[in-house]
Amino acid sequence: MKTIKKNLKKYLRHKAGPEQISAVSRLIPRSVLLKTQRDNLIRQVRYCAEKSAYYREQFAEHGIDPLKVRGIEDLAAIETPNKAVVERPYDFVCCPPQIAFETTGTKGRNKKIFFTNGEVNRATSHIALSFTLYGLTPADRFVNSYNFSFWVPGVLHQKACEKFEAFCLPASKVAPAEIYDRLEFYKINVLMGYPSLLVRLTEMADANKRIPMKAVLCSSEPLPERLREYMQEVWGCKVYMGYGGTEYCGGAGGECIHQNGYHLNEMDQIVEIKDPDENGIGEILLTTLNRECMPLIRYNIGDLGRMTTERCKCGLPTARIMEIAGRRDEKATIGSMDFLPVKAFDELLGHVPQVTEDFQLKAYWEGRYQIMELFYESDAGDQDQVQNAIVASMKEYSPDIYKNYMLDMYKFRMTCVPPRSLRGDNVKLNRWVDIRRQQEKDM
Ligand SMILES: [Zn+2]
Repeated sequence: MKTIKKNLKKYLRHKAGPEQISAVSRLIPRSVLLKTQRDNLIRQVRYCAEKSAYYREQFAEHGIDPLKVRGIEDLAAIETPNKAVVERPYDFVCCPPQIAFETTGTKGRNKKIFFTNGEVNRATSHIALSFTLYGLTPADRFVNSYNFSFWVPGVLHQKACEKFEAFCLPASKVAPAEIYDRLEFYKINVLMGYPSLLVRLTEMADANKRIPMKAVLCSSEPLPERLREYMQEVWGCKVYMGYGGTEYCGGAGGECIHQNGYHLNEMDQIVEIKDPDENGIGEILLTTLNRECMPLIRYNIGDLGRMTTERCKCGLPTARIMEIAGRRDEKATIGSMDFLPVKAFDELLGHVPQVTEDFQLKAYWEGRYQIMELFYESDAGDQDQVQNAIVASMKEYSPDIYKNYMLDMYKFRMTCVPPRSLRGDNVKLNRWVDIRRQQEKDM
């Protein structure tokens, strides 16, 4: 009991190592968790009132006295839109930043989120904690195929393995064959990365030689159940999903061994579902609780989700996000890439004189591949030349989309239709049509 108390204290102060956390986390009553969350919120709000230009302005505008805030309900008048962070990032910054990560998007529209090294360090503790939940130990050998280019998951997972004191090969996002060829040499038994990359890797193992793994950990884009099952079969282990993002400083939460929802890190954040519909699905709002550099209050992350506080079979006391139901507005994910499809193609097609300004993108599944098909309007004679121009423009103006296409993360198709045929008589043209979720349901 004495050790538990000591470990609990360390946990609450974020000073415990993964094993200590793991040993006590199931024993924490939800009431203790909520009390800690509330105390942290009160502290975070006062800090914002003192240091954050943006939130000082918000408190004044909405008549909120930061000293009187006792719970998230007292902040109901505030909602921080995405746009505010894109347009005024430095108004959110409260102390000298030591590291920054960006969300991908079209040129110049990336969100830039600043952190201190301490914040990154704390976030990695939670990833390391999830390793222990899966029964992994420092003797296991990881490969990290997350992107290191401005994006958060590469660095975070690398540091988490460092904290876990395990071997970790920093592959970054490369062609799956490069990873496959090294699995045996480095005796890798844990795969980490984007689902679309890992699905390609799985196919390689399936076609060549199946190399048994102990666990596969993925996040950052949806993984349909049938592909999860396929991966589990080929690697002979469980595939665990995490949910996160740049604003969460990596992981918002991860699955436990029951693979039933993402256990949230409620010591460091409050996650709310705004105006849930009859199925409980609504926009996800994030409030940070221990941020020093760029705290966020009721920040609209742009995801739709459903949440439960029902206790999981594993015993952990945290709330769980049960489902990410997609992205609000035009933001989309395909082939391990987070992007604004309409904005991106608006820009890149603007540099191709042979096409009209109307286009439609369709995202769908074909076997294990995600397809993004572009329907564009053109009456030029040589369509090969037009399509080469589109790909060249993609390479120049949307390098992320191009890179993922080259890495075979998704298949890109182009279909030419006559000018003015896409819109027909409609005033509005739906330029992004994503039927992947519907296909999953129909299967
Ligand atoms: Zn659980």
